[in-house]
Amino acid sequence: MIESCVGIPVIDAHAHFMTRSTVQSIVENSQSISKIRERVSSHTDMKEFQMPGKDWDIGEAWIKELNKYGITAIGMMVGEESWEEFNQVRKRYPGRFMGNANINPAKDNAIELVKRAGRDNFQAIKLYPTSWDFHAYDEIVYPIYEEALKQGLLVMLHFGITIGSTANLRYGNPLDIQKPAHDFPDLNFMIAHFGAGFFREVLLLMYQTENVFMDTSGSNSWMKYLPYDLSLTKIFEKALKAGGPNRIVFGTDSSFFPRGFRINILEDQYAAVSSICPQFCYSPDDVDKIFRTNILRLNKFEPASEISK
Ligand SMILES: [Zn+2]
Repeated sequence: MIESCVGIPVIDAHAHFMTRSTVQSIVENSQSISKIRERVSSHTDMKEFQMPGKDWDIGEAWIKELNKYGITAIGMMVGEESWEEFNQVRKRYPGRFMGNANINPAKDNAIELVKRAGRDNFQAIKLYPTSWDFHAYDEIVYPIYEEALKQGLLVMLHFGITIGSTANLRYGNPLDIQKPAHDFPDLNFMIAHFGAGFFREVLLLMYQTENVFMDTSGSNSWMKYLPYDLSLTKIFEKALKAGGPNRIVFGTDSSFFPRGFRINILEDQYAAVSSICPQFCYSPDDVDKIFRTNILRLNKFEPASEISK
């Protein structure tokens, strides 16, 4: 078992594989690189954002980060444009990278991509209702759920606010997943960032469903936009009370360089969980569930047992 710098083994379930082509496609879909830079600096904890160079070795860059902090494995959101590059990286470093395929249900090849994700041994698919304008219960998404079930893939979803300024919050309510979760009892759904602002709705889903899970990823700065005060500790306390330790999955939402792996997210969240758990009689095993075993149960990934160089 690989021990992380906070003293327990850690698997990061939520990060982004930002190759040169991914960044280029983001730039093409937004007004300009300067707009992105501006939004990144005003809405995130990133001081700078580096456009990947032509010869940049993204696999080596990530593995150095994982090894530096003793992170066993990391789950990457992968776009179609960087899929091949991701496969090569995974082959070079077995057991360190989990694959989560970004799927836009409106695209002609959406089903084919879900099949390909299964064939390529990916662990999950990721849907972005607010970025791609659909309700998670829309008819168009149902064949995607059917195929994800066939391929044994976890379904991750981003609801709520997002760094992209064009996100449509009309599609951002996590309650949208209640009906699909009911219609697909054997499929598991994981909501990113505790619902990114729709925290109350996510907690209600813990009561109403059995196959919906929460990921903790990112700085959870959405708490600033709620009409009441919350802290990271309070978020974990509420999430634990509503969902229990089996339904919380750790993630950092690491994405760009030079920032790399967001160690501060791990440190802050581990401190929050450690302070609550003894208070509410949760065991070290429950902490291990949040930081490692829940995601492995949900996505059947086999992580490396030692550091690969
Ligand atoms: Zn993310």
